[in-house]
Amino acid sequence: TTFSVADIRKSFLDFFASKGHTVVASSPLVPGNDPTLMFTNSGMVQFKDVFLGEDKRPYVRAASVQACLRAGGKHNDLENVGYTARHHTFFEMLGNWSFGDYFKRESLIWGWELLTQVYKLPAERLLATVYHEDEEAYDIWTKDIGLPPERVIRIGDNKGAKYASDNFWMMADTGPCGPCSEIFYDHGPHIPGGPPGSPDEDGDRFIEIWNHVFMQFDMQPDGSVKKLPAPCVDTGMGLERLAAILQHVHSNYEIDIFDNLVKAAARETHTTDLDNKSLRVIADHIRATAFLVADGVIPSNEGRGYVQRRIIRRAIRHGYKLGQKKPFFHKLVPDLVALMGVAYPKLVADEKKIAETLKAEEEGFFRTIANGMSILEGELLEGVATLSGKVAFTLHDTFGFPLDLTQDVCRERGVNVDEAGFWEEMKKQKERSREGTDWGPDRKVEYAGAGNTFTGYEHLEEQAKVVALYFEGASVNELTEGQP
Ligand code: ATP
Ligand code: MG
Ligand code: MG
Ligand code: MG
Repeated sequence: TTFSVADIRKSFLDFFASKGHTVVASSPLVPGNDPTLMFTNSGMVQFKDVFLGEDKRPYVRAASVQACLRAGGKHNDLENVGYTARHHTFFEMLGNWSFGDYFKRESLIWGWELLTQVYKLPAERLLATVYHEDEEAYDIWTKDIGLPPERVIRIGDNKGAKYASDNFWMMADTGPCGPCSEIFYDHGPHIPGGPPGSPDEDGDRFIEIWNHVFMQFDMQPDGSVKKLPAPCVDTGMGLERLAAILQHVHSNYEIDIFDNLVKAAARETHTTDLDNKSLRVIADHIRATAFLVADGVIPSNEGRGYVQRRIIRRAIRHGYKLGQKKPFFHKLVPDLVALMGVAYPKLVADEKKIAETLKAEEEGFFRTIANGMSILEGELLEGVATLSGKVAFTLHDTFGFPLDLTQDVCRERGVNVDEAGFWEEMKKQKERSREGTDWGPDRKVEYAGAGNTFTGYEHLEEQAKVVALYFEGASVNELTEGQP
């Protein structure tokens, strides 16, 4: 049997309902009333206050399929899209929770049961990691479940660790957190990459599919931890990653939903090579930007709206690379609605608004992208190893190229961007504008929004600082501090 994405959602929820879990609907991408988080980055976000003991629900076990976005803040995968087989900005997370009810044993044993008996994943392809000091989780894997010890890998908390992997999960810089145990699937030796904890763990051979977090602490702003009122379980499994395994493909971008979106992107950009990486970026970004509009985030020059703008413009740039000279991106909206509208009716309800919002942003950016790209191409033709901050800033200021878009182009050519120089230019401009001097001839290029890219702050120097912090992944809370 092959599982469609829709089958997977249903069988996951059915399984946990049969284990006494209440099925809870996905919450919006913009977390309600949580200034510490830019976007909903995992299924637990809507339960944060339940973990903290500040909110009570009529159930102690829950399961959901949660729409997530990782394009800003602590978990940011924007730079991975188009480069790995497993990362999206927008994705769906399958999750189950215990609020002071069951703990490690049930969570791991049920997880194993679901993967090997319902989805029938071959046990010999699965590996697990545990937090290096978590003997309890280690014993559950090796003794109760019977995973051979060589396939249970101890991983630290990343502080001073040699490699990137990290078995201490945190929602954000503060808030609920705890040690975790993760399940990986081996896609086979024909794919480059090593097991978790090895130097080449960042490859796509061993793909992490399911994280079981044993929530026990509340991280404080000063880095100390408070105990939660009760130990809890918080799990998250990437729907697209599971679908790739169940549909016998390697990349998330080859599963049913993405196959269709990639074809739609190919149709709108007249591209014949379906493996072109830009098609994958566009397919990813149409999901992120459409769901953002549906959740009320429209492109703007600050905060969440600026993330939205950056994602849309990145998609446009990839279309431009494929030869598009006029708006095309919004034409993927009907395809997306056809593919995901049943699971997410708000897409159907907002279809018109989504298409119009994207189209308006495209019309704006298509007025300047050709000029900006010709400047950038000119620089790259010079064979520079590092693009100067001044050029990056001009592209930003005059042509509406967000810094990350310029970096995306440069990365394709193996060229760095002088980021420090970019922010230096930003600062200079703010100083000039405060004195009310002319901003130079490039300001005369007409483009609404690209001139003073970030408006709304009284003190423009602070604004530059804020923008810098923002790109470093600062929380919305930090960003809006002192904002008029
Ligand atoms: P990775 O190490 O691959 O970046 P992660 O450790 O950051 O994943 P978690 O925060 O543990 O991911 O999230 C739980 C699960 O959500 C992951 O095991 C994975 O299946 C899925 N997931 C995480 N990030 C993404 C993403 N950008 N796109 C698709 N699925 C994701
Ligand atoms: Mg990650
Ligand atoms: Mg990971
Ligand atoms: Mg993880």
